[in-house]
Amino acid sequence: MQTNFDFSTNTLIIGGGPAGSTLAKKLAKNNINTILVEKNFAYDKPCGGGVKTIVFKEFNIPIELENKRINEFILFSPKNRATIDLSETPLSIVLRKEFDNVNRKIAEKNGAKLIEGRYKTLKHIDDYIIAQIKTKEKLITIKTKYLVGADGVTSSVRKDIIGSYPKAILSHYSNISSVPINNCEFHFGKKFAKKDYSWVFPHGDKLSVGTFLNQEKTSYKLFSNFKNSIVQNDNTQTKGFYIPLWQNKTLFYKNNVFFVGDAAGQVLPFTYEGIYYAIKSAEILADAIIEDKPELYEKNWNRKYKNKFKFFITLQKIFLGSNFMTEKMIKFFQNKQLQQSALKYWGGTAKPLNFGQAVLKILNHAIKN
Ligand SMILES: Cc1cc2nc3c(=O)[nH]c(=O)nc-3n(C[C@H](O)[C@H](O)[C@H](O)COP(=O)(O)OP(=O)(O)OC[C@H]3O[C@@H](n4cnc5c(N)ncnc54)[C@H](O)[C@@H]3O)c2cc1C
Repeated sequence: MQTNFDFSTNTLIIGGGPAGSTLAKKLAKNNINTILVEKNFAYDKPCGGGVKTIVFKEFNIPIELENKRINEFILFSPKNRATIDLSETPLSIVLRKEFDNVNRKIAEKNGAKLIEGRYKTLKHIDDYIIAQIKTKEKLITIKTKYLVGADGVTSSVRKDIIGSYPKAILSHYSNISSVPINNCEFHFGKKFAKKDYSWVFPHGDKLSVGTFLNQEKTSYKLFSNFKNSIVQNDNTQTKGFYIPLWQNKTLFYKNNVFFVGDAAGQVLPFTYEGIYYAIKSAEILADAIIEDKPELYEKNWNRKYKNKFKFFITLQKIFLGSNFMTEKMIKFFQNKQLQQSALKYWGGTAKPLNFGQAVLKILNHAIKN
């Protein structure tokens, strides 16, 4: 690889999804020289687009990007259902193509340089990195102090540094022509998604219907059964895409190369929320880069989220391990008081202990009933 270069920067970010654009926004705002490389400015990431409404206020994201406000979730188990009142913790649906595009534009306005091109390779030379980017016109080289892999679940940067992609599960989904469903539905139980869930999300003028499933061999069959239960004889194309499974021992950083968002597996277990945590994780990383203390990224992320992520893995194992426990979970959510304490924990306004106590209550309930 040649050692002369087209651009020189402090931080080169590969990937302009929620993680990459948030990082670029914050770094540029703090006068850190930043380049953001995105392979396709018109990319529409396969995604339900469900994100806590608080995200707009918390990260100063234009509220015009909210496509729909969701005030209720409906949870289904094979025998029961629970309606979850989200009026205190609403959820918004965003359309990813415009959401990502506008956030990249804000980063550019803050001073980041945007390049449409595909990351190809990197090389460490002394204490800096040279990366090669393929644009439509030519191959360019960028010299940088830090390089960030924000390039999603199939992160090429991560593959180059660690030799593997994040552990992930497959989802099957279709965006079908609208059926009159205005709230988000989550369907649990072996019939549609063993140990995971199937979902229905309003999405623009369509309905996003999908199944997350750890066992790929049966995933498609369960998905088509599920889709048939929502709408019969639908011929919309089914697509498949991976979503990371968070691992306790995740690599955050190696030789001035960081990983963030899906590239670091930072998706909340059980719920599979990735957008909010990609944004939050990028903020934590931005602070570490601004202070020029890379080690703060892992330390502060672990302090803020490690216990929560571990706790959600435990919840998933307990409640989705069998239809019996799934029924108990739905019963739990039928209790308005317990439901609201769970939502406060999910929304980040209650301490884990409160929800831990609630879990004990449900286990207690399960034993007694
Ligand atoms: C079917 C499905 C439904 C989902 N629904 C939800 C949901 O409702 N709510 C939620 O919170 N999460 C959801 N997720 C998860 C969510 O989409 C991700 O967690 C989130 O997008 C992660 O953001 P990111 O910025 O880390 O990565 P991404 O959004 O994947 O962004 C990575 C970016 O990197 C770019 N890129 C990739 N390779 C290169 C390269 N070589 N060079 C340059 N650029 C590159 C890509 O074009 C992309 O723009 C869903 C996921 C799936 C698969």
